[in-house]
Amino acid sequence: MIDKLVIANRGEIALRIQRACRELGIRTVAVHSEADRDAKYVRLADESVCIGPPAASESYLNIPAVIAAAEVTDAGAIHPGYGFLAENADFAERVEQSGFIFVGPRAETIRLMGDKIAAIRAMKQAGVPCVPGSDGPLVEEDGENLDVANQIGYPVIIKAAGGGGGKGMRVVHTEATLRNAISLTRAEADASFNNSMVYLEKYLERPRHIEVQVMADQHGSAVYVGERDCSMQRRHQKVLEEAPAPGITDEQRKEIGTRCVEACKKYDYRGAGTFEFLYQDGEFYFMEMNTRIQVEHPVTEMVTGLDLVKEQLKIAFGERLSFRQDDITVRGHSIECRINAEDPDTFLPSPGRIVQYHQPGGPGVRVDSHVYNNYIVPPYYDSLIAKLIVHGSERSEAIARMHSALFEMVVDGIKTNIPLHRRILRDGGFQRGDITIHYLEQTFVR
Ligand code: ADP
Repeated sequence: MIDKLVIANRGEIALRIQRACRELGIRTVAVHSEADRDAKYVRLADESVCIGPPAASESYLNIPAVIAAAEVTDAGAIHPGYGFLAENADFAERVEQSGFIFVGPRAETIRLMGDKIAAIRAMKQAGVPCVPGSDGPLVEEDGENLDVANQIGYPVIIKAAGGGGGKGMRVVHTEATLRNAISLTRAEADASFNNSMVYLEKYLERPRHIEVQVMADQHGSAVYVGERDCSMQRRHQKVLEEAPAPGITDEQRKEIGTRCVEACKKYDYRGAGTFEFLYQDGEFYFMEMNTRIQVEHPVTEMVTGLDLVKEQLKIAFGERLSFRQDDITVRGHSIECRINAEDPDTFLPSPGRIVQYHQPGGPGVRVDSHVYNNYIVPPYYDSLIAKLIVHGSERSEAIARMHSALFEMVVDGIKTNIPLHRRILRDGGFQRGDITIHYLEQTFVR
């Protein structure tokens, strides 16, 4: 077993990983930028190393600095968290080449899943349902592309193979605009991602976002750990997540979960992963696989009673999965609200000093957060300051608990999106539980 680990991240996830390590008896090294010098998790870590100035490009994204921190502290492993270097295949490769354990999948798996066309092809071959599409990159010949689009039926969406963060996509409603849309997306993709390859798929008009959590060890075992509904989004950023997904039956869960597990086995997947799907009219359509622990993993932990981060660490250190598929049961319902330092109406970031902070409590309430009274939210990073998570015996109880928890929560001195969450919780569409990924923007954004 490894006895010391570098946490190559910041904020709540750095604290979350640290907690898992402490329970497992693993010492932690916090690497941090100059802006995060006084952070709680830096003080609580066994050791800390400042790896650069505030800008993430010079600190949290600085691969040689992170690896050097592991070297000088004599650590055995590096956990990348989410964001930053978590899905950077070159980083994973260099970590392992330098003799450290990377807490995540093999570099080649990260690379495969990072290439959208290759990932879709691989998933199709493994029997995971995908969106009907061009089955590879679009060719330069307009006629062929027209044929593909006509076969699939409009509307279609043109997507950049190297795209990410919701960029490099264009919806096309009629044949007349297809050609222009392809060349525009191609040019954009070339400029933004240095990869002009684009592909085409059916555009789903009212989908939900449902994702399946998987865990796989290095001994050929893999399980699915239920699904989450993350349809409440703004500009492709998730705002509120829940587990299980409302209305998904045990049979559906088992069917899609089994497909994901088969894919994990086929590609020798290692660690925690998420298969993201669009879901419409009872069908799942694979979108992408995230090869890391996700922000919203706590809702899965709340309904299964598992500790996914501890399990992720144990898998990385070569242990077998500590549970089998039959051991996993989904109990009750969990909701997570992402509390962001931002204006609830304009969504503009609102960094600064938190002069008053009160965390809610009570039965079934969990708060994952690194902030405290007088903490200064730095302007350089993601605006997530806390994840408020509740569990209830059923969805209606979880909603009532979240109402109560939001009522108790106090974050003064900066603006947060707590008022937005209150509006969402009161909303009839949300309460019915069948909203599409467009609902938040259509309903709550003026
Ligand atoms: P990125 O890697 O940039 O996030 P994705 O392929 O995951 O790109 O797509 C981002 C978002 O675009 C999805 O969450 C979904 O909202 C929308 N989207 C992507 N493909 C489709 C599709 N075929 N039909 C409808 N919406 C889509």
